[in-house]
Amino acid sequence: MNTIAIALHGGAGDRDRSATTPDNERELTDSIAEARETGYMILEQGGTAVDAIEAAIRIMELQPCFNAGVGGALNTDGEVELDAGIIDGATHVTGAVIGVQRIKHPITMARYIMEHTPHVALTKRGAELLAESIGVEMVEKEFFLTDETVRLLHRMQEKEQAATQGEGKVVLGTVGAVALDRFGNMAAANSTGGIMNKRIGRVGDAPMNGAGMFAHNGIGAVAATGYGEFFVRTVAAHEIIAQMRYCNTTVDVACMNVLSEIESLGGRGGLIALDAHGTVVMPFTTTSMVRATRTSHGIITADVW
Ligand code: ASP
Repeated sequence: MNTIAIALHGGAGDRDRSATTPDNERELTDSIAEARETGYMILEQGGTAVDAIEAAIRIMELQPCFNAGVGGALNTDGEVELDAGIIDGATHVTGAVIGVQRIKHPITMARYIMEHTPHVALTKRGAELLAESIGVEMVEKEFFLTDETVRLLHRMQEKEQAATQGEGKVVLGTVGAVALDRFGNMAAANSTGGIMNKRIGRVGDAPMNGAGMFAHNGIGAVAATGYGEFFVRTVAAHEIIAQMRYCNTTVDVACMNVLSEIESLGGRGGLIALDAHGTVVMPFTTTSMVRATRTSHGIITADVW
């Protein structure tokens, strides 16, 4: 069988290890492992890289421990504005939704835009009108709120100054996935609520092709997590694939180059990346990044620290 591989992130962030209980940790690793297994089974049964990453992300969008869908970060008004994006490395078609509040699975709508419209992104009302017209599952915006996200927002709003000065221990928790299918196709995607206490309308790297995600068959696939503004400024995911493509840089070195550049600008985060041989790397410069992988080379992992 040709090599197949999937890697997922459940967000990089400055999680406090001493304040994380074994139960918290188990919830994160069990949740991401469930998504990993769903995606891997699709690849094993002959599904495409796009099918695998969409299915894996749909699972994480309903798990409240991640910052995507249910449990998504809240804006200053206490509402979610969800972003998701996906790219198919076989065709370089890409799709995104930005700032949506009522689409149950933003990643599925991003895929629909990629495959069935001539556009690359739809925002807010435009995305929701199209979603309603094609029968995508809609929910009330309160569906995405959890006690934990409301509590975190209030805590951050009380300490507004500390948070904006970067002193707050911000746990990000966006989700993303990359995959290689048995046909050699590669794909990448992210889904997120963005950053807690974000300005209304703020958009990060997660849904942006080239910044938060990129894939090119025969070269690699990348999905990013972290302080999104820095990944947009460095066009991080495309930069990694370009280094691999034009300079023959290995996937691990290309990722470290970009994370170092981001660090030199004052930003931090993490990456999940694959090359065309199914080599997986998952480096990060925050204290933690929830991550998991499974490949037909026999590697199976799910980790937090
Ligand atoms: N990169 C995301 C954003 O800036 C946040 C995250 O990775 O958790 O919106």
